Amino acid sequence: MENKEITHRKITTATRPTKPEEYRDHYYPKTEILGDDEMRITALGTGMPNLRPSQASAAWLVELGNGDTFFFDIGTGCIAGFASTMVSYNRANKVFLSHLHSDHCGDLPALWIGGWVANRATPVYVWGPSGSRPELGTAYFVEHLRKAYTWDIESRHAGGLLQPPSEIIVEEFDYSKTQVVYEENGVTVTAFPAIHILDGPVSFRLDWNGLSFVYSGDTHANRWYVENGQNADVAVHESFITVPQLMEKQGFPEAQAVKIGTEVHTSPEACGEVFAAINPRLAVAYHFFNDWDTAPDIRDALKSTYDGPLVLATDNMVFNVTKEYIKTRMMVAAEDIWPPESAQEAAERDEVMHFGGRGWNYDPDKMSEWLVEGQLHD
Ligand SMILES: [Zn+2]
Ligand SMILES: [Zn+2]
Repeated sequence: MENKEITHRKITTATRPTKPEEYRDHYYPKTEILGDDEMRITALGTGMPNLRPSQASAAWLVELGNGDTFFFDIGTGCIAGFASTMVSYNRANKVFLSHLHSDHCGDLPALWIGGWVANRATPVYVWGPSGSRPELGTAYFVEHLRKAYTWDIESRHAGGLLQPPSEIIVEEFDYSKTQVVYEENGVTVTAFPAIHILDGPVSFRLDWNGLSFVYSGDTHANRWYVENGQNADVAVHESFITVPQLMEKQGFPEAQAVKIGTEVHTSPEACGEVFAAINPRLAVAYHFFNDWDTAPDIRDALKSTYDGPLVLATDNMVFNVTKEYIKTRMMVAAEDIWPPESAQEAAERDEVMHFGGRGWNYDPDKMSEWLVEGQLHD
């Protein structure tokens, strides 16, 4: 079956694969129509808090056949990879945060402000956990992010960008309860506690159309993930590098390596135990530098406790999930990406929009007179 994906620059012939053998070997964004009953999961960030070109920090994009799109964590550096997916900022405006470490929330400003400039017509919506005190919760984090970007927001309003898309709306929920935190359009997202240094961190389960995506941010192996992850279609769980790798690669003394690698986080062996306890259709481990000299030991350790289907995730890995099959591939990630929607398209879709719409309102009078007089040209 063929269809047309239309953007403001080109029309691409897009296919809609319905069997594993109909997919290309690689995923080329904008060339495949997602089936009505299909889920596409893209690993945007699979690395560690110290950002590097090959791996951004934790971020997963989940696209559903009903048109819904969600971020699960939005760690530092992930929005560059998100651009390569060519998904519209108007669709990708909902973010679930597992906890408030920068490697899980650090690119929220890049989505929020970058998407606003790229013609997003809606606010960004964020769901995240409370903490043991108000200032350790997601609402506090977002409120102060907004304050920190006061100059940014005020200058862009003065520069002509409209108010509503600059909003970031937060819904903080009780981290200590297993509860549904989102239910709309046939999609249910359940949050449940995780164990990671302080009170607050959570993990998530998304259910839609008989398919499930279960996601841990950072956590020690815990019973809530096992309870909520049962028979998941795709179970994504953090696994750290091994203790010897922490000592060798990061120079940690042994006691610190054991603490970080097996208590603050989940060791590969413990990650395998979690997967064995939930029996997913596909188990996906992430949150380590996935290199030729680290991956074999991590895989061996995971396989020592789990012998089911397993992927060690790396950035730009794509999973197409249906009831019949799960297709795992790499995205061909173009780097010179422009925003997928033009100002004109945005203006046509929404009556009130940015440049070119009736909301255009550039206000140069916000500058001091002496700066205006310093212009070489009027
Ligand atoms: Zn963390
Ligand atoms: Zn982390």
